[in-house]
Amino acid sequence: MTDYYKISLEILSQILKTEGYDHWEKWMQEDMKLWETSKSVEHHLHAYGGMGSFNDVVIGNNDIGGLWKGRIFGAFQSLAYGLASGDSLATILDRMQNDSHIISGWRCLACGNAKITITDVEAYVASYFIPKLFVEYINKNQLVDLIDVDKILTSEFITNKRNAIKKIIIEASITLSDDTNWQWKCPKCGSNETCAYRWELLENETKIVEANDNLPLKK
Ligand SMILES: [Zn+2]
Repeated sequence: MTDYYKISLEILSQILKTEGYDHWEKWMQEDMKLWETSKSVEHHLHAYGGMGSFNDVVIGNNDIGGLWKGRIFGAFQSLAYGLASGDSLATILDRMQNDSHIISGWRCLACGNAKITITDVEAYVASYFIPKLFVEYINKNQLVDLIDVDKILTSEFITNKRNAIKKIIIEASITLSDDTNWQWKCPKCGSNETCAYRWELLENETKIVEANDNLPLKK
Protein backbone atom coordinates (compact mmCIF):
# COMPACT_ATOMS: atom_id res chain seq x y z
CA MET A 1 0.00 0.00 0.00
CA THR A 2 1.26 3.46 -0.88
CA ASP A 3 2.50 5.42 2.12
CA TYR A 4 0.83 8.78 1.43
CA TYR A 5 1.92 10.18 4.76
CA LYS A 6 5.57 9.60 3.92
CA ILE A 7 5.09 10.96 0.38
CA SER A 8 3.44 14.13 1.66
CA LEU A 9 6.26 14.71 4.16
CA GLU A 10 8.83 14.25 1.40
CA ILE A 11 7.04 16.71 -0.86
CA LEU A 12 6.57 19.28 1.93
CA SER A 13 10.25 18.96 2.75
CA GLN A 14 11.21 19.44 -0.89
CA ILE A 15 9.06 22.58 -1.26
CA LEU A 16 10.36 24.02 2.03
CA LYS A 17 13.93 23.45 0.87
CA THR A 18 13.33 25.28 -2.42
CA GLU A 19 11.66 28.16 -0.60
CA GLY A 20 14.42 28.45 1.99
CA TYR A 21 12.50 27.38 5.09
CA ASP A 22 15.37 25.50 6.74
CA HIS A 23 13.76 25.17 10.15
CA TRP A 24 10.61 23.53 8.77
CA GLU A 25 12.51 21.43 6.26
CA LYS A 26 14.47 19.91 9.17
CA TRP A 27 11.20 19.43 11.04
CA MET A 28 9.77 17.38 8.15
CA GLN A 29 12.99 15.36 7.94
CA GLU A 30 12.64 14.55 11.64
CA ASP A 31 8.99 13.57 11.07
CA MET A 32 10.05 11.18 8.31
CA LYS A 33 12.69 9.62 10.53
CA LEU A 34 10.20 9.14 13.39
CA TRP A 35 7.67 7.65 11.01
CA GLU A 36 10.16 5.19 9.58
CA THR A 37 11.60 4.12 12.92
CA SER A 38 8.54 4.07 15.19
CA LYS A 39 5.44 5.05 13.13
CA SER A 40 5.12 8.06 15.41
CA VAL A 41 3.22 11.17 14.18
CA GLU A 42 3.25 13.25 17.39
CA HIS A 43 6.15 15.42 16.31
CA HIS A 44 4.42 16.28 13.04
CA LEU A 45 1.11 17.15 14.73
CA HIS A 46 3.10 19.42 17.05
CA ALA A 47 4.05 21.61 14.09
CA TYR A 48 0.49 22.96 13.79
CA GLY A 49 -1.36 25.49 15.89
CA GLY A 50 -0.28 28.64 17.67
CA MET A 51 1.68 31.67 16.55
CA GLY A 52 4.55 31.11 14.16
CA SER A 53 3.48 27.53 13.60
CA PHE A 54 3.65 25.46 10.44
CA ASN A 55 0.22 26.80 9.40
CA ASP A 56 1.74 30.28 9.13
CA VAL A 57 4.35 29.34 6.55
CA VAL A 58 3.72 31.37 3.39
CA ILE A 59 4.80 29.81 0.11
CA GLY A 60 4.91 31.64 -3.21
CA ASN A 61 5.01 35.24 -4.37
CA ASN A 62 2.04 37.49 -4.84
CA ASP A 63 1.40 36.37 -8.43
CA ILE A 64 -0.55 33.62 -10.20
CA GLY A 65 2.23 31.03 -9.94
CA GLY A 66 2.72 31.93 -6.29
CA LEU A 67 -0.97 31.51 -5.60
CA TRP A 68 -0.90 27.95 -7.02
CA LYS A 69 2.31 27.11 -5.18
CA GLY A 70 0.80 28.28 -1.92
CA ARG A 71 -2.44 26.36 -2.49
CA ILE A 72 -0.68 23.15 -3.47
CA PHE A 73 1.59 23.43 -0.44
CA GLY A 74 -1.51 23.94 1.73
CA ALA A 75 -3.12 20.85 0.22
CA PHE A 76 -0.05 18.76 1.06
CA GLN A 77 -0.15 20.15 4.60
CA SER A 78 -3.81 19.08 4.86
CA LEU A 79 -2.92 15.66 3.54
CA ALA A 80 -0.05 15.14 6.00
CA TYR A 81 -2.01 16.56 8.93
CA GLY A 82 -5.15 14.58 8.11
CA LEU A 83 -3.29 11.30 7.77
CA ALA A 84 -1.32 11.97 10.98
CA SER A 85 -4.65 12.63 12.74
CA GLY A 86 -6.02 9.30 11.55
CA ASP A 87 -8.39 10.50 8.81
CA SER A 88 -8.82 8.38 5.71
CA LEU A 89 -7.53 9.58 2.36
CA ALA A 90 -11.13 9.75 1.08
CA THR A 91 -12.21 11.99 3.98
CA ILE A 92 -9.29 14.35 3.41
CA LEU A 93 -9.97 14.61 -0.32
CA ASP A 94 -13.68 15.25 0.36
CA ARG A 95 -12.81 18.03 2.77
CA MET A 96 -10.63 19.73 0.14
CA GLN A 97 -13.66 20.05 -2.17
CA ASN A 98 -15.64 22.17 0.29
CA ASP A 99 -16.63 25.61 -0.87
CA SER A 100 -15.19 24.99 -4.29
CA HIS A 101 -18.05 26.73 -6.11
CA ILE A 102 -17.69 30.16 -4.52
CA ILE A 103 -15.85 33.03 -6.21
CA SER A 104 -15.03 36.16 -4.22
CA GLY A 105 -14.90 39.73 -5.44
CA TRP A 106 -15.81 43.33 -4.69
CA ARG A 107 -19.13 45.12 -4.69
CA CYS A 108 -20.54 48.59 -4.16
CA LEU A 109 -23.70 48.15 -2.10
CA ALA A 110 -24.99 51.59 -3.12
CA CYS A 111 -25.10 51.14 -6.90
CA GLY A 112 -24.41 47.43 -7.38
CA ASN A 113 -21.14 47.97 -9.27
CA ALA A 114 -19.24 44.69 -9.11
CA LYS A 115 -15.66 43.65 -9.71
CA ILE A 116 -13.82 40.35 -9.75
CA THR A 117 -10.04 40.35 -10.23
CA ILE A 118 -8.00 37.89 -12.24
CA THR A 119 -6.49 36.78 -8.91
CA ASP A 120 -10.01 35.98 -7.65
CA VAL A 121 -10.59 33.93 -10.81
CA GLU A 122 -7.31 32.08 -10.30
CA ALA A 123 -8.11 31.40 -6.64
CA TYR A 124 -11.38 29.84 -7.82
CA VAL A 125 -9.68 27.76 -10.52
CA ALA A 126 -7.07 26.57 -7.99
CA SER A 127 -9.67 25.55 -5.38
CA TYR A 128 -11.68 23.85 -8.10
CA PHE A 129 -8.81 21.87 -9.61
CA ILE A 130 -6.42 21.10 -6.76
CA PRO A 131 -8.63 18.46 -5.08
CA LYS A 132 -9.31 16.91 -8.51
CA LEU A 133 -5.61 16.94 -9.36
CA PHE A 134 -4.84 15.26 -6.04
CA VAL A 135 -7.24 12.44 -6.86
CA GLU A 136 -5.89 12.12 -10.39
CA TYR A 137 -2.21 12.16 -9.39
CA ILE A 138 -2.79 9.76 -6.49
CA ASN A 139 -4.45 7.35 -8.90
CA LYS A 140 -1.53 7.66 -11.31
CA ASN A 141 0.90 7.29 -8.40
CA GLN A 142 2.53 10.58 -9.43
CA LEU A 143 1.66 12.87 -6.54
CA VAL A 144 5.16 14.33 -6.60
CA ASP A 145 4.52 15.79 -10.09
CA LEU A 146 2.12 18.28 -8.51
CA ILE A 147 5.15 20.35 -7.51
CA ASP A 148 5.61 21.37 -11.15
CA VAL A 149 3.22 24.29 -10.80
CA ASP A 150 4.17 26.08 -14.03
CA LYS A 151 3.29 23.02 -16.09
CA ILE A 152 -0.02 22.58 -14.31
CA LEU A 153 -1.25 26.12 -14.55
CA THR A 154 -0.57 26.39 -18.27
CA SER A 155 -2.23 23.06 -19.07
CA GLU A 156 -5.07 23.10 -21.55
CA PHE A 157 -7.94 22.10 -19.26
CA ILE A 158 -7.00 24.74 -16.71
CA THR A 159 -6.62 27.41 -19.41
CA ASN A 160 -10.04 26.48 -20.80
CA LYS A 161 -11.71 26.62 -17.38
CA ARG A 162 -10.07 29.97 -16.61
CA ASN A 163 -11.28 31.44 -19.93
CA ALA A 164 -14.80 30.05 -19.48
CA ILE A 165 -15.07 31.68 -16.05
CA LYS A 166 -13.76 35.02 -17.32
CA LYS A 167 -16.34 34.91 -20.10
CA ILE A 168 -19.35 34.38 -17.82
CA ILE A 169 -18.11 37.12 -15.47
CA ILE A 170 -18.03 39.59 -18.35
CA GLU A 171 -21.40 38.37 -19.63
CA ALA A 172 -22.87 38.98 -16.16
CA SER A 173 -21.73 42.67 -16.42
CA ILE A 174 -19.21 42.24 -13.64
CA THR A 175 -15.93 44.11 -14.23
CA LEU A 176 -13.05 41.71 -14.72
CA SER A 177 -9.97 43.54 -13.53
CA ASP A 178 -6.25 42.88 -13.17
CA ASP A 179 -5.98 45.63 -10.59
CA THR A 180 -5.90 43.77 -7.28
CA ASN A 181 -5.87 46.88 -5.06
CA TRP A 182 -8.87 47.18 -2.80
CA GLN A 183 -11.30 49.94 -3.86
CA TRP A 184 -12.56 51.74 -0.79
CA LYS A 185 -14.60 54.12 -2.91
CA CYS A 186 -16.80 53.05 -5.79
CA PRO A 187 -15.35 54.49 -9.03
CA LYS A 188 -18.85 54.65 -10.51
CA CYS A 189 -20.96 56.38 -7.83
CA GLY A 190 -18.37 57.53 -5.27
CA SER A 191 -19.99 55.67 -2.37
CA ASN A 192 -17.74 54.14 0.27
CA GLU A 193 -20.24 51.41 1.01
CA THR A 194 -18.06 48.80 -0.65
CA CYS A 195 -17.47 45.29 0.58
CA ALA A 196 -16.20 41.83 -0.22
CA TYR A 197 -18.85 39.92 -2.11
CA ARG A 198 -19.41 36.29 -3.03
CA TRP A 199 -20.85 34.65 -6.09
CA GLU A 200 -21.62 31.05 -6.81
CA LEU A 201 -20.77 29.33 -10.07
CA LEU A 202 -23.39 26.84 -11.12
CA GLU A 203 -24.10 24.24 -13.77
CA ASN A 204 -20.53 23.40 -14.57
CA GLU A 205 -19.43 27.04 -14.59
CA THR A 206 -21.97 28.19 -17.16
CA LYS A 207 -23.89 30.39 -14.74
CA ILE A 208 -22.92 32.90 -12.04
CA VAL A 209 -25.34 33.95 -9.28
CA GLU A 210 -25.04 36.01 -6.11
CA ALA A 211 -24.35 33.81 -3.10
CA ASN A 212 -26.99 34.08 -0.38
CA ASP A 213 -24.67 35.09 2.46
CA ASN A 214 -23.83 38.60 1.20
CA LEU A 215 -24.71 41.97 2.70
CA PRO A 216 -27.88 43.29 0.98
CA LEU A 217 -27.67 45.93 -1.76
CA LYS A 218 -29.13 49.33 -0.85
CA LYS A 219 -31.59 49.44 -3.72
ZN1 LIG B 1 -21.23 52.48 -6.55
